[in-house]
Amino acid sequence: MTSASEGYDLLLKGGTVIDPANGRRSLLDVAVKGGRVAAVARDLPVQDSAEVLDTSGLLVVPGLIDLHTHVYEGVSFLGIEADDLCPRTGVTTVVDTGSAGWINYRGLERYVIERSETRIFGYVNLSGVGLPSRRGELVHHDYLDAGECAECVLRHPETALGVKVRLYAGVAGRMDLREVLKASVEAAKECGKPLMIHISGSDVALEDLLPPLRTGDVVTHCCHGTEAASILDGEGRIRPVVRDARERGILFDVGHGVGSFAFRIARRAVAEGFLPDTISTDIHTLSINYPVYDLPTTLSKFLGLGLSLDEVIERATIEPARIIGIDSHLGHLGVGATADIAVLELEEGRFSFFDVEHEKMDGPQRLVCRTTIKDGKVWWRAGEAGQTAEA
Ligand SMILES: [Zn+2]
Repeated sequence: MTSASEGYDLLLKGGTVIDPANGRRSLLDVAVKGGRVAAVARDLPVQDSAEVLDTSGLLVVPGLIDLHTHVYEGVSFLGIEADDLCPRTGVTTVVDTGSAGWINYRGLERYVIERSETRIFGYVNLSGVGLPSRRGELVHHDYLDAGECAECVLRHPETALGVKVRLYAGVAGRMDLREVLKASVEAAKECGKPLMIHISGSDVALEDLLPPLRTGDVVTHCCHGTEAASILDGEGRIRPVVRDARERGILFDVGHGVGSFAFRIARRAVAEGFLPDTISTDIHTLSINYPVYDLPTTLSKFLGLGLSLDEVIERATIEPARIIGIDSHLGHLGVGATADIAVLELEEGRFSFFDVEHEKMDGPQRLVCRTTIKDGKVWWRAGEAGQTAEA
């Protein structure tokens, strides 16, 4: 056996590398050493590697990044255990979107982020308590404090990305959503970080919600099916205010969830040439067992909607990496990058997918995770003891 100190720690041999950030899509080997990508080339010699993984017939892509999840288990009713889900789904990095607010964000950092193997970032909720229960996180107006929220973001520079606010009807009692938005923009401006707004279930139109946003802010749940804040107008056209927002550098994220993704809206958006910037799950206790399941399933839905493999991988790797600000070393497979790698299988057959309106869409392809590598180590592989492998 070759000494690992001389050669590679791990060699992924014979797979199809899809690395949109570096414009790569071909049969290539990927070598890993010291937790980083050491080489990406054809026919790298197996004798130079301590371990060789046969990836022939499989896709080798950057570790997936899920921009919208809820992982504050035990504190937020939505919280799931990141380390239970992520390894087996090719996801190495997630963002918790506002489960914690400016009162309890340190708990997310201390009890979840610091103790998880999954790499986790968070948005701080404009509500001090975050999302302990299903609704009304801003009904008690003492919990709405732009200054405290901004300070909290700045107190946690390692993990806090910015500010999150849910703009559904009634989130702040009788307070107008435009006022809630104003406070959240103020908080984001004060800390100099992006704002992520949730738009499903809103009773205010996007003509009022998008103009106050700034370059780099994120609109999540962009393909939701509720009327008032739809990206589509009555004729099924993308609203001019949505196109203007994209022109200004506002980003549109999927955030599937249990109430925020309709095939009929996504289909129209794709037909209009309006693809989401990022594809994320909004995975939580209420969406994990149906209809979301995981990120590969969510990506498969977009394959069924007509996006190319490269387009979906890009939207769950380099695009969210840019939003998080980790794109120098994550979200791609360039030499020197952190060796987070997902080995996926593109299964061919007939698969049924469901949206939040229970519409069934059959698709001929499905992405399934076979192996996940994080920081250069095999984190999970299908078929190991205690894990289920599909035939
Ligand atoms: Zn969410």
